[in-house]
Amino acid sequence: MAPFTSSLALLSAGEVGPNAARSLKGRGSPLASPAAQVELLESLPLEADFEAALRQAKQAPLRPSRLEVLQINLGRLCNMACRHCHVDAGPDRLEQMDRATVDFCLFALDRTTAHTVDITGGAPELNPHFRTLVEQCVVRGKHVIDRCNLTVLLLPRFADLPQWLGEHGVELICSLPHPRRPGTDAQRGDGAFEKSVEALRRLNQAGYGKGNGRRRLTLMMNPVGAFLPGGQASLEREWKAALLRRHGITFDRLLALNNMPVGRFLEWLVETQNLEEYLAHLVSAFNGSAVPGLMCRSSLSVAHDGTLYDCDFNQMLELPIGGPSGHVRALDPKELASRAVRVGRHCFGCTAGAGSSCGGSTV
Ligand code: SF4
Ligand code: SF4
Repeated sequence: MAPFTSSLALLSAGEVGPNAARSLKGRGSPLASPAAQVELLESLPLEADFEAALRQAKQAPLRPSRLEVLQINLGRLCNMACRHCHVDAGPDRLEQMDRATVDFCLFALDRTTAHTVDITGGAPELNPHFRTLVEQCVVRGKHVIDRCNLTVLLLPRFADLPQWLGEHGVELICSLPHPRRPGTDAQRGDGAFEKSVEALRRLNQAGYGKGNGRRRLTLMMNPVGAFLPGGQASLEREWKAALLRRHGITFDRLLALNNMPVGRFLEWLVETQNLEEYLAHLVSAFNGSAVPGLMCRSSLSVAHDGTLYDCDFNQMLELPIGGPSGHVRALDPKELASRAVRVGRHCFGCTAGAGSSCGGSTV
């Protein structure tokens, strides 16, 4: 798909792309509505619902454990528009966290037990408050993760970013669907693989991906299709060998994620008539031992407007925590600790096979 021109002030036309799709919202797709996505999932003739599966695994209701990670979504704006994006991000998504909400996140952080701040988007680096947030988290002694799409690092205004992130000890978790061009470009757009490789080279030059704990480079893969990933450890060996042999690139670890039936991946499942079969597969692959490690138990997700969610997927489906502690400015750790996590059929994506989370496999 040819890159489209952005008339937006937040991204110049030359900063847009690669693109494999356009946002559901920008196209006026019915699935741009989170409620329509939930309704579609609920309408499928599945053999089980998630709460029943949890009951069978003696894990219902799903309760949080100690809060380890505050995940902050800085907005939907992204230079890319990938086919499988569960966030429905893209150059035409203008939602961005403002400075006041960033400050609410920092005040909230001071009241919680979270030791890690996981910054995501969109492309979080495009938010004008990104560096302030990183600096303030580092000052507080937090481990900071930047979920980076790689290609954003090639924008001239971010030429210094790899070095700057390294100086602040930020871990980079970079999405790369596949270690070869066709698989990555199919999901992310023509030229995405080549640009990603160039960004990885720059990160290696800045000391990332070489075993230094303060310059940790993690890659994150997801299957290019309606199937579950192979074993994370064997995929990591395969990816390390392939990227080193073909491109001279090193990285520290690989996370394997299941594709979640949310956002543009949900649309892709519908269009390719894979939806029912994929969901049935997720249900049949339910793994009770993946439940204790679910990320919704140990993390909280903050949306760009400050609304709190159990996880990034619940955020995209607009299933907020709710209640008096439902906004980051009013975050009350005690109240949140006693809540039940909001679950639905999309949750089968997290418990299938080896389990899946923003931290990779959970089993
Ligand atoms: S998958 Fe990541 S890089 Fe691709 S559009 Fe979504 S947020 Fe942007
Ligand atoms: S989708 Fe969210 S709430 Fe559901 S199991 Fe996964 S992490 Fe938990």
